[in-house]
Amino acid sequence: KANRFFHPEDSVITVKNESFGGDHFTVIAGPCSVEGPQQIEQIAMDVKKAGAAMLRGGAFKPRSSPYSFQGLREDGLELLKEAGRKSGLPIVTELMSVQHLEAFMEEVDVIQIGARNMQNYELLKEVGKTGKPIILKRGLAATIEEFILAAEYILDEGNGNVILCERGIRTFEQYTRNTLDLSAVPILKKLTHLPVIVDPSHASGIWWLVEPLAKASMVAGADGIMIEVHNDPAHAKCDGEQSLKPEKFKHLMDSLRELGTVI
Ligand code: PEP
Ligand code: MN
Repeated sequence: KANRFFHPEDSVITVKNESFGGDHFTVIAGPCSVEGPQQIEQIAMDVKKAGAAMLRGGAFKPRSSPYSFQGLREDGLELLKEAGRKSGLPIVTELMSVQHLEAFMEEVDVIQIGARNMQNYELLKEVGKTGKPIILKRGLAATIEEFILAAEYILDEGNGNVILCERGIRTFEQYTRNTLDLSAVPILKKLTHLPVIVDPSHASGIWWLVEPLAKASMVAGADGIMIEVHNDPAHAKCDGEQSLKPEKFKHLMDSLRELGTVI
């Protein structure tokens, strides 16, 4: 069902007044985690002013260590919804368990399935039964074929609103957190009709690599990017090293506009 052969036109997925796919570039920005009302509302206003189309923020966090900050969970979800209402930006947040799906059905505009859950087939089937736009992130060690087959689980349940997200894969390279597989962008665009976005923040793990990788993603034909932005990266509860300050994010947006059409 993802196969371009049977569906030659690009799919365009609408989210409120914004969309993924087509000839423009969609920018999602926000903190790794929602940390409190001021933090998320301030970042929402900052990224909106810089021109982001959507607000991201993790409430349920898939952390490698159980001793790391796990997110504000239900409270974080409510704070993100409130920041979405106040800023008018559609919101994107990660669902880790079907247990929380009901709370996501109201007001969460785009459900993210994280890299660690790319092959959680029962979760994929459940989000496939909703009509919600789903950002499916590539697994840490998933091949392109496995990635497309994971999307197929959602599509096969009747939900065609799947956005693929390349977020870096594990390689022997240690300098960066992951290795951005930029070739996945044109390959996924060739094999499927789904919108493809890139997350250069998790792919690199390093804030100063985010801008060049974001620009490269646009030039490679991606339909958008997801960028981590934090008002105080040094004190972020999660992923501060890869987060852009709002002024750096604005710089990134300006340089993307020089390369193409950003919404
Ligand atoms: C995230 O987007 O916050 C995240 C945890 O990403 P990934 O699933 O790609 O690691
Ligand atoms: Mn993160």
